[in-house]
Amino acid sequence: MPDVMVAASSSKAPSGGTTQQVDVAVVGAGFAGLYLLHRLRKAGFTAVVLEEADDVGGTWYWNRYPGARCDIQTIDYSYTFDPELESAWQWSEKYATQPEILRYLGFVADRYDLRRDIRFGTKITAATWDEAAQRWRLTTSGGATVSSRYYIMATGCLSAPKPPEIDGVKDFAGEVYFTGRWPHREVQLAGKRVAVIGTGSSGIQSIPLIAEQAAHLTVFQRTPNFALPAHNGPAPADRLGLLEADRAGYREQARWSLAGVPWPQQTAVSWQLSDAERRERFEQAWAAGDLVYILTQLWADQAVDLDGNAIVADLIREKIRATVEDPETADALSPHDHPFGAKRPCLDTNYYATFNRPNVTLVNLRQEPIKAITASGIKTDKRTFDVDVIVFATGFDAMTGAIMAVHPITGRGGKSLSEVWANGPQTYLGLTVAGFPNLFMITGPGSPSVLSNMAVSIEQHVDWVVDRLVAAKASGFTTMEATETAQAGWAQHMADCATLTLHRLANTWYTGANVPGKAQGVMPYTGGVGPYRSICNEVVSRGMLGFRLTGPDGAEQCNDGEVVRLQPDVRLVLNMLAEMQLPPLESFGAQGARNFLAEFNAARPAGRPVGEVVDGTLPGADAPLPYRLYRPATPGPHPIVVYFHGGGWVLGDEQSDEPFCRDLCRRSGMIFVSVGYRHAPDHRFPTAVEDAYAATRWIAAHAAELGGTPGAVMVAGWSAGANLAAVTCQLARDRGGPPISGQLLVCPVTDCTFDRPSYVDNATGYFLTRSLMYWFWDLYCSPADRTDPRVSPLRGKLEGLPPALVATCEFDPLRDEGVAYAEALAAAGVPVEQLKARGHFHSSLTMVDVVITGVSGRVQMAEALRRFAGLPGQDHQRAPHEIAAE
Ligand code: NAP
Repeated sequence: MPDVMVAASSSKAPSGGTTQQVDVAVVGAGFAGLYLLHRLRKAGFTAVVLEEADDVGGTWYWNRYPGARCDIQTIDYSYTFDPELESAWQWSEKYATQPEILRYLGFVADRYDLRRDIRFGTKITAATWDEAAQRWRLTTSGGATVSSRYYIMATGCLSAPKPPEIDGVKDFAGEVYFTGRWPHREVQLAGKRVAVIGTGSSGIQSIPLIAEQAAHLTVFQRTPNFALPAHNGPAPADRLGLLEADRAGYREQARWSLAGVPWPQQTAVSWQLSDAERRERFEQAWAAGDLVYILTQLWADQAVDLDGNAIVADLIREKIRATVEDPETADALSPHDHPFGAKRPCLDTNYYATFNRPNVTLVNLRQEPIKAITASGIKTDKRTFDVDVIVFATGFDAMTGAIMAVHPITGRGGKSLSEVWANGPQTYLGLTVAGFPNLFMITGPGSPSVLSNMAVSIEQHVDWVVDRLVAAKASGFTTMEATETAQAGWAQHMADCATLTLHRLANTWYTGANVPGKAQGVMPYTGGVGPYRSICNEVVSRGMLGFRLTGPDGAEQCNDGEVVRLQPDVRLVLNMLAEMQLPPLESFGAQGARNFLAEFNAARPAGRPVGEVVDGTLPGADAPLPYRLYRPATPGPHPIVVYFHGGGWVLGDEQSDEPFCRDLCRRSGMIFVSVGYRHAPDHRFPTAVEDAYAATRWIAAHAAELGGTPGAVMVAGWSAGANLAAVTCQLARDRGGPPISGQLLVCPVTDCTFDRPSYVDNATGYFLTRSLMYWFWDLYCSPADRTDPRVSPLRGKLEGLPPALVATCEFDPLRDEGVAYAEALAAAGVPVEQLKARGHFHSSLTMVDVVITGVSGRVQMAEALRRFAGLPGQDHQRAPHEIAAE
């Protein structure tokens, strides 16, 4: 395969100071720019690509340092838009080298005759939205100007190198190289004393090869990074086999996966696996030499929970110690300051073993920071290192650098993007920015981009953008712009997603922490490639939700709104339920619905271990009732919480809220006794409430026998169970006990009125439907009984009740009656705390280990219970989503 040639046929700027008029101007001729140009042309748009380099390749044009390779398997890191292209190109290795990838991009440019519309050696110096012309006006380094309807940044996420930020670089008398701007000529390092500063992917890839050439290599490390062996060679037969057996299916699976590589979602969590099983999984991943595999395939909680993550990090540190002979060096190379995967891990070839070479020294900058660079080398606050060459592998002003810092972009009303992004990038979908009509970004901040296989994300972005331009043209619209509402909603969704992962717990280029003074925040979309794709599709299917489109003669369409208002994991759960196309629960009949629920519950994670689970029987109102007791692992006696399960007074039993009871037992350090009260329609009102009251009396009277603290108990419940808990408090007050010190009411039924807004707004689509509630009510009690405070506690006397925590969920028909109850309790002088769970549905808070964003709510519940019991609060220094260790 010949080397990519600098294109003789490249586009030329128009002469004589004329402005080139095109439909679309694209910046960058890397993976994204090339595919964009191809798609735009096929869609009938005129386009020009402006590229600073002298050839195609983007990041692969600039990053020519020794050892530069991709770290997503090459069969996945390729274009997939044309099956013929796929069969016309064969990769030679599992991870292709930079020259091979550059040849590939050149091959693509030639195959689709792209170069004639690429203007190489052209830097954009300013981009301005011309309000009157409704076009972008670009000025370029050569002085030529371009006028375009649309302006698309295909500038890459890691293309603006970060300055070294070390004093004295200019004084150095030797050679200086940046990995991100490596010379195009051969660099001679043989026999030289070389320093490498930086141990990210670029440093880790280049260090072993530089060590082989240099007389001596000194590596200056500020933060150790996790590196895994690439085990490079031919593409693995199993992956290749899968691809070749069903190419279209394989590619489609990648498009809907989390990271853009077709691996399944893991379901087993770390604490469900034995030590031996975890080690086996880890060793398999270590041997696989695949970043996405080890980041996603060990156990389901590895990327979302610190405990699940720490197990992986420990196993990797064990590998480092086993490889690096000098224990002090091994220790210095072992990362301890961030969860595995929170900072981009690296794929390496012989990285750790390189530190066993006699000609390699590691300098730990945490112990001796660099003071300055001098004429002869590098001075730390302890020593001086004389060197001939300094290689800066110090990274990039990632994600925003190439878009914002490279040239001023001025949008509507003369506002510059730098001003608008002063406190961090704001985008809608990572593709557009409010106030910047017809500006698009490919893999911009707010898109999955760098947390995914870029090839897959790029194709998705390009397809989405070009399809929108085609649709706009067809309907006569000439501008397209995100609304402020949509953009703010996306920022909220981004933040919700980020709380689910551990990325925000590390100082990285993902968060802007590597550039002094840069605004901090997780910049890429952490919700995954598949969910992101479905959201982009939803924007379209909901009539370009969150976009304002305008055209000639005042034509305008604006369907304003936020595309995702649910918490990200709630959205996944509800989508999954919707895909199952279940018939309404009420259509099964009572017994059928009970069977369905039992089957559904059997498939969920069982819940984390507690000290002990004991089944027993207690006397109800007039019949024995089963109960299940959950005891904490800590020494007792413990305060007791009497718990009533959900299920509309019709479904469920003392085990059906098991994960929720276990979780609250662990978090609060209290005994939970879940009561199997009797159900409608066999036992209609008031059986359940009388059972609940009788059970509470009995448990309070037998507290010591149960291992509990004698005296007052607390009551808790979810949904209809919360209704029983609320009513039990009223009965206990009126019937002379038992003493109850607090009530935890989660999404309670409190009233028989069905016309509050939440009943209307959330009537369907959120699992608990209005018609299901009607059915429950009909089975439980006759219309004449419904205003009885024993079923509608909101209508009862509320003075003198125990303190309460009332939790409600935004997308729940029962939301407003829960809020009404909390407000009425407060008005009656009862101490009340409200927990309003934004973006959650009726079942969210009880779906332990499935709806992870419910964790902070359960932490709040546990704290409230401890307050009710007069216990001190617990240490919740850890992030709210983290699940405390045993
Ligand atoms: P990077 O991950 O940001 O690493 C930069 C390194 O330089 C870090 O170790 C950093 O330390 C250190 N550093 C920065 N400024 C410093 C200073 N003033 N003094 C001392 N040390 C300093 O950059 P990168 O290695 O170029 O990689 C960036 C990303 O590009 C990667 O994460 C990856 O996504 C991509 N990449 C991919 C490949 C591939 O295999 N396909 C190869 C290269 C890069 P701190 O951590 O303490 O800031």
